[in-house]
Amino acid sequence: MQRLSWGMVGGGEGSQIGPAHRMGAQADGNFSFVAGALDADPDKGCAYAQSLGIAPDRAYGDWREMLEGERGRPDRVDLVTVATPNATHFEITKAFLWAGFNVLCEKPMTMTVEEGEEIVRVAAEVGQTCAVNYCYSAYPMVRHMRAMVASGDLGALRCVVVNFSHGHHAAGDDADNPRVRWRYDPAQAGVSGQLADCGIHALHLATFIAGDEVETLSADFASTVSGRALEDDAMVNFRTTRGTVGRLWSSAIALGRQHGLDIQIFGETGGLRWASEHPGQVYYHPLGGRVQIIEKGEAGISSEAARLSRVPIAHPEGFPLAVANIYVDLAEVIRARKDRRTPAAASLAVPRAEDGLRSMAAVHAAVASAKANGAWMDARPPMFR
Ligand code: NAD
Repeated sequence: MQRLSWGMVGGGEGSQIGPAHRMGAQADGNFSFVAGALDADPDKGCAYAQSLGIAPDRAYGDWREMLEGERGRPDRVDLVTVATPNATHFEITKAFLWAGFNVLCEKPMTMTVEEGEEIVRVAAEVGQTCAVNYCYSAYPMVRHMRAMVASGDLGALRCVVVNFSHGHHAAGDDADNPRVRWRYDPAQAGVSGQLADCGIHALHLATFIAGDEVETLSADFASTVSGRALEDDAMVNFRTTRGTVGRLWSSAIALGRQHGLDIQIFGETGGLRWASEHPGQVYYHPLGGRVQIIEKGEAGISSEAARLSRVPIAHPEGFPLAVANIYVDLAEVIRARKDRRTPAAASLAVPRAEDGLRSMAAVHAAVASAKANGAWMDARPPMFR
């Protein structure tokens, strides 16, 4: 199959998420990396892009230059990934969508709910795909859990408990560390620290597996390290549209936890448990039965999981391959549009701008709730109420 062409904004040398995108986009031969404006420093960005094999005329110093350069080409990129710091996502994503490009935007998609609604409207108007990199939703066993919930294996869901808590910002004397500082600076991070940075993945994961949306929530925020203007620990209670009880804890000061994303789902007839540190296994407890370990790659695994798995049972497929699965889905969606056919149904699970918007509305509702001593708030974006 012919490769699609792909470009990137951000993700320069030494960035945290850039390598996962480059591995992910190219892992299955779906995309060729042909263009990029990779760095805030134009010279560094051009040099690094060329060192990665980008032709000099497509190694751009700036995203606006890239947009103009690619717009006019007959072989323009099929997909642009936006992997810059949060505050720039809205402007860059919107501009590329308007120019007729498909976009994969990093989370959080925007800083405000209004911007999120604008991205949803623009993507619909131009007819391009705007995806959001909620990559944990693309682990094979997460897709398997989603398939189990959808097929009624757990019965009606009663409760979802999800955590995304680590201890990497626990040092009180870390205030000048550039990787930590921006996350608690409202000018760069927006209204929320840890919830917008990590908790947002947990919130998406819970609703993705449940096939449901957050409707209302109540939050308690704490800045446990003195001097932080934004929360480094957040507890959010929520209710979904179908009445499932949700409990979410996200912390950056949880020493002893490394990556710390895990989820438990309790239904009327069964429960599931999964942790990103052991991504190939799901614990399943059917009511009245014994706890079973379902392994990625075993016989009888759902087609939704099998299509996103490459290596045999007991070989973990970790974070970069979860990102790769986002690109597998996007390649199918983009190719189907080019070929004027309906995309394979499973690929439509890829998170979209609507999901990015819902997360932003929930984050803003949580901030308002925390300021109001945990008062329950409507967590839905106005355009979906
Ligand atoms: P980083 O600071 O490590 O890297 C950011 C990169 O973007 C740098 O190379 C920088 O030079 C470049 N950049 C900044 N402004 C730019 C501009 N205007 N044009 C072009 N390049 C520019 O940040 P990071 O940790 O890689 O995070 C980037 C984004 O990815 C953030 O939004 C973050 O929330 C998100 N992220 C997502 C995940 C995930 O699991 N999906 C994980 C980590 C980070």
